[in-house]
Amino acid sequence: MPGEPQADCLFCKIVAGEVPATVVRETETTVAFRDINPQAPTHILVIPKGHYADAATLAAEAPQLVADVLREAGTVAAEEKIAVRDGGPGTGYRVVFNTGTGAGQTVFHAHAHVLGGRGLNWPPG
Ligand code: 5GP
Ligand code: ZN
Repeated sequence: MPGEPQADCLFCKIVAGEVPATVVRETETTVAFRDINPQAPTHILVIPKGHYADAATLAAEAPQLVADVLREAGTVAAEEKIAVRDGGPGTGYRVVFNTGTGAGQTVFHAHAHVLGGRGLNWPPG
């Protein structure tokens, strides 16, 4: 069944409370927690509680959850005060869905990286 927990999935274990995480927000359908290896002053992962392998699978199988994840990304950014839109360095944030090993995906449970708190180069590496 789409969205069912997977026994070998690290993020399903975080959802279940079996692996500790620094949770910053939780809703009925999502969890947001700090990345263990932050790449920016603010680096938070927003995940659906249900298991979907990547963002495209999530969009295909549970489109409402994409909206939930992106709304939470925005709320997290506001709470972390990285969402200011004055154009200066370190303001604004980036939402990233690494998809596939060649793009850096290492955990195959869909997650949005919310990155900010410093200037962010474009294009990313
Ligand atoms: P990906 O590489 O799949 O796009 O992102 C996975 C992210 O999960 C990485 O940024 C990595 O640092 C983070 N991560 C891996 N294991 C853990 C963990 O046990 N706890 C937390 N909070 N983050 C983790
Ligand atoms: Zn999972």
